Amino acid sequence: MERVDVTVIGAGVIGLAIAAEIVKPGLNVYILEKNVNHGGGISSRNSEVIHGGMYYPETSLKATLCVSGRQMLYDLAARFKIPHKKIGKLIVAVKPDEIADIERLHSNGRKNGVTSLSILSKQQIAKMEPNIKAYTALYSPESGIISAHDLMNYYLACALSKKTSIVYHTKVVQIEKEAGGYRLFTHNAKGESFEFNSAIVINAAGLESDTIANMIGGNYHLYYCKGNYCGISGVKQGIVQRLIYPVPDKKHIGLGIHLTIDLNGRLKLGPDTTYIPRVENYNVKAEITDCFYQSARKFLPFLKEENVHPDMAGIRPKLQGPDDDFRDFVIKEDSPGFINLVGIESPGLTASPAIARYVKNILFHF
Ligand SMILES: Cc1cc2nc3c(=O)[nH]c(=O)nc-3n(C[C@H](O)[C@H](O)[C@H](O)COP(=O)(O)OP(=O)(O)OC[C@H]3O[C@@H](n4cnc5c(N)ncnc54)[C@H](O)[C@@H]3O)c2cc1C
Repeated sequence: MERVDVTVIGAGVIGLAIAAEIVKPGLNVYILEKNVNHGGGISSRNSEVIHGGMYYPETSLKATLCVSGRQMLYDLAARFKIPHKKIGKLIVAVKPDEIADIERLHSNGRKNGVTSLSILSKQQIAKMEPNIKAYTALYSPESGIISAHDLMNYYLACALSKKTSIVYHTKVVQIEKEAGGYRLFTHNAKGESFEFNSAIVINAAGLESDTIANMIGGNYHLYYCKGNYCGISGVKQGIVQRLIYPVPDKKHIGLGIHLTIDLNGRLKLGPDTTYIPRVENYNVKAEITDCFYQSARKFLPFLKEENVHPDMAGIRPKLQGPDDDFRDFVIKEDSPGFINLVGIESPGLTASPAIARYVKNILFHF
């Protein structure tokens, strides 16, 4: 591997989707991953929700790539039998002064091209979800859930079917620009070093994407924002059929502690939003359950404190600091042939096929 055409740094859902999209006969693509397997980063620690696209500001990459990515994702999930379900979602107003937020989200969603949204009355909600409490709700029938691991396995299989290789346990530690591309310096698990030249580099390193971008003169800073989850046990299976979300905070730091359902019908609450130091700490403290219970019982009145228990956590790679306003995905060719994907937090999973297409268009100028 002295010289390769394209190197993708990071084998999460984004790097794998891009590798699957750009492979073509004669193009030599390498995916480098510091972990022992693919998908062990952000991509395996999330809600696995296929988002509608109503939250994000009109024309932002988050909005446009979520809306187009959602449709692409449903198409490829149906075609290649990737486990998923279009179960729909309700964003609920639990007090009268949240009704305006529901209307605002409805109008924002329509501007973003989410045409299937509707506002439901209390009676309509009671028919659909008799066990939840809400004044009104925004109904998104296009929202759903998908197995992130099966999706990543699909992307990887597509990439490997052409001239692509994946190299695990290999961390990129330094990059220098040189004639004909970039020199990448790597370390493997045994502490051995290896360097090679790559004509094109795609930085899809998730929580480390700012560090990689800064190796070639970028000036990015990612904040780590932890999202804890709590499991729900001891409630009747099927008590709620759809994803139930509260009205989100106005600064877009998170979507609010919500109820998700996985493909096996298990219920989960989360994620919360806690800015943490830059350490990948996934411990979930037992004391968070009280806050989760208090937030969720406003719209899940059947919940008892003993039903809620600590579960898993993920970490968002945020360009937005705790006091900042909305920040969009960065997907940019910051140096010729060097594409950075920085701040790919939610809805990155949903948007993954559209992000991959977007990167391909930058690369090959279609
Ligand atoms: C709590 C939470 C909930 C979410 N919920 C949803 C949701 O419901 N729906 C949705 O659409 N999106 C959701 N997201 C967002 C989505 O999970 C992410 O956008 C997506 O997984 C990001 O994928 P990635 O490939 O960029 O990152 P990752 O999956 O982290 O992949 C990056 C890879 O790069 C590797 N790497 C890093 N540095 C190096 C290096 N120097 N050398 C080699 N390899 C390196 C890492 O080991 C990692 O495997 C959520 C995110 C979080 C945190």
